[in-house]
Amino acid sequence: MRKFITLAVGLLLLGSSCYADNKTSLYDFRFWSSPERTRIVIDTDPGVSFSIKQNKGHFILSIRQSKILQDTYKKLFYSDHRILKTRIKRNKSGYQLTFKMNNSYRIKSYTLLPNIKYKHHRLVVDIYDKASKAIISKIEQPTKKNLQSKIILIDAGHGGEDPGAIGRKRTQEKRITLSIAKKLAKKINRTRGMKAILTRNGDYYVGLTKRIRIAQTNKATLFISIHADSVLSSKARGASVYTLSKHGGSTKFARRLEQTQNTADQFGVNQHTTSSNKQLDKILWKLSRKDRDIQSQKLGKNILSQLKKIGHLHKKKPQKAGFVVLKTPAIPSVLVETAFISNPQEERRLNSSKEQDKIANAIYQGILSYYR
Ligand SMILES: [Zn+2]
Repeated sequence: MRKFITLAVGLLLLGSSCYADNKTSLYDFRFWSSPERTRIVIDTDPGVSFSIKQNKGHFILSIRQSKILQDTYKKLFYSDHRILKTRIKRNKSGYQLTFKMNNSYRIKSYTLLPNIKYKHHRLVVDIYDKASKAIISKIEQPTKKNLQSKIILIDAGHGGEDPGAIGRKRTQEKRITLSIAKKLAKKINRTRGMKAILTRNGDYYVGLTKRIRIAQTNKATLFISIHADSVLSSKARGASVYTLSKHGGSTKFARRLEQTQNTADQFGVNQHTTSSNKQLDKILWKLSRKDRDIQSQKLGKNILSQLKKIGHLHKKKPQKAGFVVLKTPAIPSVLVETAFISNPQEERRLNSSKEQDKIANAIYQGILSYYR
Protein backbone atom coordinates (compact mmCIF):
# COMPACT_ATOMS: atom_id res chain seq x y z
CA MET A 1 0.00 0.00 0.00
CA ARG A 2 1.20 3.43 -0.83
CA LYS A 3 1.41 5.86 1.94
CA PHE A 4 1.75 9.54 1.67
CA ILE A 5 2.48 11.44 4.81
CA THR A 6 2.79 15.14 4.80
CA LEU A 7 3.91 17.08 7.78
CA ALA A 8 4.25 20.80 7.60
CA VAL A 9 4.87 23.12 10.44
CA GLY A 10 2.67 25.93 9.25
CA LEU A 11 3.37 28.49 11.90
CA LEU A 12 7.09 28.19 11.61
CA LEU A 13 6.92 28.59 7.85
CA LEU A 14 6.07 32.22 8.40
CA GLY A 15 9.30 32.63 10.31
CA SER A 16 11.41 31.27 7.49
CA SER A 17 10.44 34.07 5.14
CA CYS A 18 13.02 36.29 6.77
CA TYR A 19 15.76 34.29 5.04
CA ALA A 20 17.15 36.09 2.05
CA ASP A 21 16.44 33.47 -0.59
CA ASN A 22 13.49 31.98 1.22
CA LYS A 23 15.05 28.57 1.18
CA THR A 24 15.48 26.15 4.02
CA SER A 25 19.15 25.30 4.38
CA LEU A 26 20.02 21.70 5.13
CA TYR A 27 23.15 22.18 7.22
CA ASP A 28 24.14 18.66 8.08
CA PHE A 29 23.19 15.02 7.67
CA ARG A 30 23.87 12.46 10.38
CA PHE A 31 23.09 8.76 10.23
CA TRP A 32 23.03 6.38 13.18
CA SER A 33 22.59 2.62 12.75
CA SER A 34 21.48 0.54 15.68
CA PRO A 35 20.19 -3.04 15.82
CA GLU A 36 16.72 -1.59 16.11
CA ARG A 37 16.67 1.23 13.60
CA THR A 38 18.56 3.63 11.38
CA ARG A 39 18.13 7.23 12.37
CA ILE A 40 18.59 10.05 9.86
CA VAL A 41 19.03 13.50 11.35
CA ILE A 42 19.05 16.60 9.18
CA ASP A 43 19.96 20.00 10.61
CA THR A 44 17.65 22.58 9.07
CA ASP A 45 16.39 26.10 9.31
CA PRO A 46 13.15 26.45 11.26
CA GLY A 47 9.95 25.58 9.45
CA VAL A 48 11.18 22.76 7.27
CA SER A 49 8.44 21.50 4.99
CA PHE A 50 8.81 17.86 4.03
CA SER A 51 6.94 14.79 2.95
CA ILE A 52 7.75 11.12 2.81
CA LYS A 53 6.48 8.79 0.15
CA GLN A 54 6.94 5.13 0.92
CA ASN A 55 7.23 2.50 -1.76
CA LYS A 56 8.32 -1.08 -1.85
CA GLY A 57 12.10 -1.12 -1.79
CA HIS A 58 12.59 2.61 -1.39
CA PHE A 59 11.24 5.81 0.07
CA ILE A 60 11.41 9.39 -1.07
CA LEU A 61 11.98 12.26 1.29
CA SER A 62 11.02 15.54 -0.34
CA ILE A 63 12.12 18.74 1.31
CA ARG A 64 10.46 21.74 -0.26
CA GLN A 65 12.22 25.05 -0.85
CA SER A 66 15.48 23.66 0.41
CA LYS A 67 19.13 24.02 -0.39
CA ILE A 68 22.00 21.75 0.48
CA LEU A 69 25.32 23.20 1.52
CA GLN A 70 28.30 21.99 -0.45
CA ASP A 71 30.15 20.75 2.62
CA THR A 72 27.36 18.51 3.73
CA TYR A 73 26.37 17.18 0.32
CA LYS A 74 28.65 14.16 0.43
CA LYS A 75 27.52 13.21 3.91
CA LEU A 76 24.19 12.25 2.45
CA PHE A 77 25.57 9.18 0.72
CA TYR A 78 25.46 6.84 3.63
CA SER A 79 24.68 3.17 3.52
CA ASP A 80 24.19 0.45 6.09
CA HIS A 81 22.32 -2.83 6.28
CA ARG A 82 19.03 -1.00 5.79
CA ILE A 83 19.88 1.80 3.38
CA LEU A 84 21.49 0.37 0.25
CA LYS A 85 21.85 3.53 -1.75
CA THR A 86 20.91 7.17 -1.72
CA ARG A 87 20.01 9.25 -4.72
CA ILE A 88 19.43 12.94 -4.81
CA LYS A 89 17.34 14.91 -7.25
CA ARG A 90 16.82 18.60 -7.45
CA ASN A 91 13.59 19.97 -8.74
CA LYS A 92 11.80 23.30 -8.81
CA SER A 93 10.46 22.98 -5.34
CA GLY A 94 13.52 21.65 -3.57
CA TYR A 95 15.27 18.33 -3.10
CA GLN A 96 14.13 14.78 -3.43
CA LEU A 97 16.18 12.23 -1.58
CA THR A 98 15.55 8.64 -2.54
CA PHE A 99 16.72 5.95 -0.19
CA LYS A 100 16.92 2.47 -1.64
CA MET A 101 16.02 0.02 1.09
CA ASN A 102 17.12 -3.50 1.79
CA ASN A 103 14.05 -4.84 3.47
CA SER A 104 10.53 -4.06 4.39
CA TYR A 105 10.60 -1.22 6.81
CA ARG A 106 8.47 1.34 8.55
CA ILE A 107 9.19 4.99 9.08
CA LYS A 108 8.62 7.56 11.78
CA SER A 109 9.45 11.19 11.23
CA TYR A 110 9.35 14.26 13.39
CA THR A 111 11.13 17.55 14.02
CA LEU A 112 13.11 18.65 17.07
CA LEU A 113 13.84 22.11 18.41
CA PRO A 114 17.39 23.36 18.96
CA ASN A 115 18.94 22.61 22.35
CA ILE A 116 22.24 23.15 24.14
CA LYS A 117 24.01 20.64 21.93
CA TYR A 118 22.37 21.38 18.59
CA LYS A 119 21.82 24.94 17.49
CA HIS A 120 19.73 24.04 14.44
CA HIS A 121 16.25 22.69 14.14
CA ARG A 122 16.33 19.02 13.27
CA LEU A 123 14.32 16.77 11.03
CA VAL A 124 14.52 13.16 12.17
CA VAL A 125 13.56 10.11 10.15
CA ASP A 126 13.66 6.78 11.96
CA ILE A 127 13.66 3.64 9.86
CA TYR A 128 12.65 0.45 11.61
CA ASP A 129 12.78 -3.07 10.24
CA LYS A 130 9.26 -4.37 9.80
CA ALA A 131 10.40 -7.43 11.67
CA SER A 132 11.98 -5.39 14.44
CA LYS A 133 9.31 -6.39 16.94
CA ALA A 134 10.51 -9.94 16.64
CA ILE A 135 14.08 -8.81 17.14
CA ILE A 136 13.23 -6.87 20.27
CA SER A 137 11.51 -9.82 21.84
CA LYS A 138 14.28 -12.18 20.84
CA ILE A 139 15.74 -12.52 24.27
CA GLU A 140 18.20 -15.20 25.04
CA GLN A 141 16.34 -18.19 26.33
CA PRO A 142 17.44 -18.92 29.86
CA THR A 143 19.61 -21.98 29.66
CA LYS A 144 20.61 -23.88 32.73
CA LYS A 145 23.92 -22.09 32.74
CA ASN A 146 22.28 -18.69 32.33
CA LEU A 147 19.89 -19.34 35.17
CA GLN A 148 22.80 -19.71 37.50
CA SER A 149 24.64 -16.71 36.11
CA LYS A 150 24.52 -13.27 37.41
CA ILE A 151 23.47 -11.01 34.57
CA ILE A 152 25.14 -7.63 34.75
CA LEU A 153 23.56 -4.99 32.57
CA ILE A 154 26.14 -2.45 31.54
CA ASP A 155 24.79 0.79 30.24
CA ALA A 156 27.14 3.02 28.24
CA GLY A 157 25.68 6.47 28.74
CA HIS A 158 24.46 8.56 25.77
CA GLY A 159 25.25 7.59 22.16
CA GLY A 160 24.42 8.53 18.59
CA GLU A 161 22.74 11.90 18.33
CA ASP A 162 23.37 12.43 22.05
CA PRO A 163 27.13 12.98 22.55
CA GLY A 164 26.86 13.53 26.32
CA ALA A 165 29.33 15.96 27.86
CA ILE A 166 32.14 17.30 25.69
CA GLY A 167 35.66 17.98 26.97
CA ARG A 168 37.94 20.87 26.09
CA LYS A 169 39.78 18.68 23.62
CA ARG A 170 36.39 17.78 22.12
CA THR A 171 36.30 14.33 23.70
CA GLN A 172 32.75 13.07 23.58
CA GLU A 173 31.40 11.36 26.67
CA LYS A 174 29.48 8.81 24.58
CA ARG A 175 32.74 7.36 23.19
CA ILE A 176 34.41 7.09 26.59
CA THR A 177 31.40 5.43 28.19
CA LEU A 178 31.19 2.86 25.40
CA SER A 179 34.83 1.88 25.59
CA ILE A 180 34.78 1.54 29.37
CA ALA A 181 31.52 -0.43 29.15
CA LYS A 182 33.04 -2.83 26.60
CA LYS A 183 36.16 -3.34 28.71
CA LEU A 184 34.02 -4.02 31.76
CA ALA A 185 31.83 -6.46 29.80
CA LYS A 186 34.91 -8.39 28.70
CA LYS A 187 36.08 -8.83 32.29
CA ILE A 188 32.64 -9.93 33.42
CA ASN A 189 32.23 -12.40 30.57
CA ARG A 190 35.55 -13.99 31.45
CA THR A 191 34.27 -14.59 34.97
CA ARG A 192 32.56 -17.86 35.76
CA GLY A 193 28.93 -17.46 36.74
CA MET A 194 28.67 -13.96 35.34
CA LYS A 195 27.40 -12.60 32.10
CA ALA A 196 27.44 -9.02 30.81
CA ILE A 197 24.85 -7.48 28.54
CA LEU A 198 25.33 -4.04 27.01
CA THR A 199 22.43 -1.65 26.48
CA ARG A 200 24.24 -0.43 23.38
CA ASN A 201 27.11 -1.84 21.43
CA GLY A 202 27.84 1.01 19.07
CA ASP A 203 27.36 4.69 18.44
CA TYR A 204 23.58 5.04 18.49
CA TYR A 205 21.05 6.37 20.92
CA VAL A 206 18.94 4.10 23.09
CA GLY A 207 16.03 5.72 24.92
CA LEU A 208 16.33 5.83 28.68
CA THR A 209 13.25 3.75 29.39
CA LYS A 210 14.35 1.31 26.68
CA ARG A 211 17.57 0.80 28.64
CA ILE A 212 15.51 -0.18 31.64
CA ARG A 213 13.42 -2.56 29.53
CA ILE A 214 16.58 -4.24 28.27
CA ALA A 215 17.60 -4.86 31.87
CA GLN A 216 14.20 -6.22 32.77
CA THR A 217 13.72 -8.48 29.76
CA ASN A 218 17.17 -9.95 30.24
CA LYS A 219 16.48 -10.53 33.91
CA ALA A 220 19.50 -8.54 34.94
CA THR A 221 20.71 -8.86 38.51
CA LEU A 222 22.64 -5.58 38.48
CA PHE A 223 22.40 -2.43 36.44
CA ILE A 224 25.45 -0.22 36.02
CA SER A 225 25.28 2.97 34.01
CA ILE A 226 28.60 4.50 32.99
CA HIS A 227 29.12 8.23 32.48
CA ALA A 228 31.71 10.98 32.66
CA ASP A 229 31.01 14.12 34.60
CA SER A 230 31.12 17.71 33.47
CA VAL A 231 30.83 21.12 35.13
CA LEU A 232 31.75 24.64 34.06
CA SER A 233 34.82 24.75 36.25
CA SER A 234 37.80 22.88 34.88
CA LYS A 235 39.01 22.14 38.41
CA ALA A 236 36.36 19.68 39.60
CA ARG A 237 37.77 16.18 39.55
CA GLY A 238 37.21 12.63 40.67
CA ALA A 239 34.68 9.86 40.45
CA SER A 240 31.26 9.65 42.02
CA VAL A 241 28.55 7.03 42.22
CA TYR A 242 24.83 7.73 42.25
CA THR A 243 21.97 5.59 43.41
CA LEU A 244 18.30 6.25 42.98
CA SER A 245 16.40 8.54 45.23
CA LYS A 246 12.64 8.57 44.97
CA HIS A 247 12.50 12.24 45.77
CA GLY A 248 15.08 13.34 43.27
CA GLY A 249 18.56 14.57 44.04
CA SER A 250 19.82 14.89 47.56
CA THR A 251 21.93 17.92 46.78
CA LYS A 252 21.70 20.82 44.40
CA PHE A 253 24.48 19.25 42.41
CA ALA A 254 22.67 15.95 42.05
CA ARG A 255 19.57 17.76 40.90
CA ARG A 256 21.49 19.61 38.22
CA LEU A 257 23.05 16.44 37.00
CA GLU A 258 19.73 14.70 36.98
CA GLN A 259 18.35 17.36 34.71
CA THR A 260 21.13 17.04 32.19
CA GLN A 261 20.95 13.25 32.18
CA ASN A 262 17.20 13.04 31.89
CA THR A 263 16.87 15.59 29.14
CA ALA A 264 18.78 13.13 27.02
CA ASP A 265 15.39 11.65 26.28
CA GLN A 266 14.82 14.53 23.91
CA PHE A 267 17.02 12.57 21.59
CA GLY A 268 14.64 9.68 21.48
CA VAL A 269 11.03 9.61 20.49
CA ASN A 270 8.20 8.74 22.79
CA GLN A 271 9.39 6.96 25.83
CA HIS A 272 5.90 6.06 26.93
CA THR A 273 5.31 2.78 28.59
CA THR A 274 1.93 1.17 28.27
CA SER A 275 -0.44 1.49 31.17
CA SER A 276 -0.26 -2.19 32.01
CA ASN A 277 3.50 -1.91 32.19
CA LYS A 278 3.14 1.07 34.44
CA GLN A 279 0.89 -0.91 36.72
CA LEU A 280 3.37 -3.72 36.85
CA ASP A 281 6.14 -1.27 37.57
CA LYS A 282 4.18 0.15 40.45
CA ILE A 283 3.79 -3.24 42.05
CA LEU A 284 7.39 -4.26 41.52
CA TRP A 285 8.44 -0.89 42.76
CA LYS A 286 6.55 -1.17 46.05
CA LEU A 287 7.63 -4.73 46.67
CA SER A 288 11.26 -4.27 46.17
CA ARG A 289 12.18 -0.65 46.42
CA LYS A 290 13.56 -0.81 49.89
CA ASP A 291 15.65 -3.89 49.31
CA ARG A 292 16.88 -2.57 45.99
CA ASP A 293 17.92 0.73 47.57
CA ILE A 294 19.93 -1.04 50.26
CA GLN A 295 21.60 -3.24 47.67
CA SER A 296 22.32 -0.27 45.38
CA GLN A 297 23.99 1.53 48.27
CA LYS A 298 26.10 -1.50 49.02
CA LEU A 299 27.11 -1.85 45.37
CA GLY A 300 27.87 1.87 45.16
CA LYS A 301 30.11 1.74 48.23
CA ASN A 302 31.99 -1.26 46.89
CA ILE A 303 32.63 0.43 43.55
CA LEU A 304 33.71 3.68 45.22
CA SER A 305 36.23 1.95 47.43
CA GLN A 306 37.81 0.39 44.33
CA LEU A 307 37.77 3.64 42.37
CA LYS A 308 39.53 5.28 45.29
CA LYS A 309 42.52 3.02 44.70
CA ILE A 310 43.06 4.28 41.17
CA GLY A 311 42.21 7.97 41.36
CA HIS A 312 40.44 10.81 43.09
CA LEU A 313 36.93 10.62 44.41
CA HIS A 314 34.64 13.56 43.87
CA LYS A 315 32.26 12.29 46.56
CA LYS A 316 33.28 9.71 49.12
CA LYS A 317 29.81 8.27 49.53
CA PRO A 318 27.18 7.22 47.00
CA GLN A 319 25.00 10.19 46.10
CA LYS A 320 21.28 10.07 45.58
CA ALA A 321 19.70 11.23 42.36
CA GLY A 322 16.55 10.59 40.38
CA PHE A 323 18.03 9.45 37.07
CA VAL A 324 15.60 7.66 34.83
CA VAL A 325 18.15 4.96 34.05
CA LEU A 326 18.34 4.05 37.72
CA LYS A 327 14.63 3.37 37.94
CA THR A 328 14.88 -0.33 37.37
CA PRO A 329 12.48 -1.95 39.79
CA ALA A 330 13.95 -4.81 41.76
CA ILE A 331 17.41 -4.44 40.25
CA PRO A 332 20.19 -2.83 42.29
CA SER A 333 21.32 0.05 40.09
CA VAL A 334 24.13 2.56 40.18
CA LEU A 335 25.32 5.32 37.91
CA VAL A 336 29.10 5.78 37.87
CA GLU A 337 30.54 9.14 36.95
CA THR A 338 34.00 7.85 36.16
CA ALA A 339 35.81 11.23 36.14
CA PHE A 340 35.34 14.80 34.96
CA ILE A 341 35.61 15.16 31.21
CA SER A 342 35.56 18.94 31.87
CA ASN A 343 38.88 18.67 33.73
CA PRO A 344 41.73 18.65 31.16
CA GLN A 345 43.82 16.20 33.18
CA GLU A 346 40.95 13.81 33.63
CA GLU A 347 39.90 14.22 30.01
CA ARG A 348 43.35 12.99 29.02
CA ARG A 349 42.99 10.10 31.43
CA LEU A 350 39.55 9.18 30.10
CA ASN A 351 41.00 9.06 26.60
CA SER A 352 43.75 6.63 27.52
CA SER A 353 42.93 3.02 26.87
CA LYS A 354 45.10 1.96 29.78
CA GLU A 355 43.27 4.27 32.17
CA GLN A 356 39.91 3.17 30.80
CA ASP A 357 40.95 -0.35 31.61
CA LYS A 358 41.85 0.64 35.17
CA ILE A 359 38.44 2.26 35.60
CA ALA A 360 36.68 -0.78 34.15
CA ASN A 361 38.70 -2.99 36.47
CA ALA A 362 37.80 -0.91 39.52
CA ILE A 363 34.10 -1.23 38.70
CA TYR A 364 34.60 -4.93 38.08
CA GLN A 365 36.36 -5.43 41.43
CA GLY A 366 33.54 -3.47 43.05
CA ILE A 367 31.01 -5.88 41.58
CA LEU A 368 33.01 -8.88 42.75
CA SER A 369 33.28 -7.55 46.29
CA TYR A 370 29.56 -6.76 46.27
CA TYR A 371 28.82 -10.41 45.61
CA ARG A 372 31.36 -11.70 48.08
ZN1 LIG B 1 26.46 11.29 31.06
